[in-house]
Amino acid sequence: MPLPVSRRSFLHLASSGLAVSALGLAPSAGARQRAPVAAINTPAPAIGTVYLNFNECPLGPAPAALDAARNVLPRSGRYLFEMAEQAVQLLAAEWNLPTAQIALYPGSSDPLNRAATLFTSADAGVVVADPTFEAVADVAAHRGAPVHKVLLRDDGAHDVRAMAAAATHAGLIYLCNPNNPTGSITPRADIEWLLAHKPASTVLLVDEAYIHYSDQTSVIDLVAGRQDLIVLRTFSKLYGMAGLRLGVAAASPQLLSQLAGLGENPLPVPAMAAGIASLRDPQLVPTRRAENARIRERTIAWLERQGYACLPSQSNCFMVDVKRDGQAFTAAMARQDVLVGRSWPIWPQRVRITVGTEAEMLRFREAFALAMR
Ligand code: PLP
Repeated sequence: MPLPVSRRSFLHLASSGLAVSALGLAPSAGARQRAPVAAINTPAPAIGTVYLNFNECPLGPAPAALDAARNVLPRSGRYLFEMAEQAVQLLAAEWNLPTAQIALYPGSSDPLNRAATLFTSADAGVVVADPTFEAVADVAAHRGAPVHKVLLRDDGAHDVRAMAAAATHAGLIYLCNPNNPTGSITPRADIEWLLAHKPASTVLLVDEAYIHYSDQTSVIDLVAGRQDLIVLRTFSKLYGMAGLRLGVAAASPQLLSQLAGLGENPLPVPAMAAGIASLRDPQLVPTRRAENARIRERTIAWLERQGYACLPSQSNCFMVDVKRDGQAFTAAMARQDVLVGRSWPIWPQRVRITVGTEAEMLRFREAFALAMR
């Protein structure tokens, strides 16, 4: 018999740690005795559960993307492969790359998993930052590949020199820019240095899932003429299409053919329509980037005024030092219907917060103040 719990409420429980508190593992007395933070003067509007846990875009697809996705639904009994060609042409024009160097996938997890599968094994490890998005290391570990974790530098950048040194027997280096969960930037010059100094046979996978939120220069142009670089993009973040599924890999035709060799996976038609409409709107990226940055910086400034340090971020998330067990904090927030992200093992007292709308971040402040009482 199915359990009387929806997928959403299950995710809610799992991500919030309420499953833990349901078992009676409440936050420690010490955690409850921290100094209170200042109360919020203006109460936040009632907006239901606030999802600041998965680095999604709270705005969803742009209005033109929604229209395009709706309008194409009656034709979605067909694969409509020609739409993928159209999307690739738009990206090729934007990035000044040949279309043969661009491949679309249903989300960027797909090519990310393919790269981890192709380039890691028991004899070929993966080098990743610590902390970073774990998907590549998880797939590699599952394949029995050694995972070499290299601490981020104090400024939040990937330590490319240490990563190159750790890559002697590595098949893959994973570099996320801006990094998840920190939102920190690795300068392009460092990535160029890594390309010049890593072992020639090691593939560098640069994940630019969050680059639209930053003012960092992409390295996508560097895939031209290289056999050892894959750059990933996704429509799941700034474009607000996480549930629609559209992602991109840019690499040499040979590398793309290796990725494709793991099997076909046609694209969801509404996602292609929404992606094309999004790419045709030149204002979408700068407008959403500016709005996200404004709300992020206001929230960080508020937290810091309360005495909670945050790491500098150029993304739609940031890490705050909650000065107590991160899981207990997350559970205390979830009890107030504000779902925040998690901690990474290396930093158990820092918690990742996704940037929501202005109203959602007011609710976040309210809940934060109560959680810290
Ligand atoms: N890369 C990074 C850094 C992410 O944070 C995520 C998702 O959160 C992904 C890739 C995968 O995203 P998607 O498969 O939705 O494109």
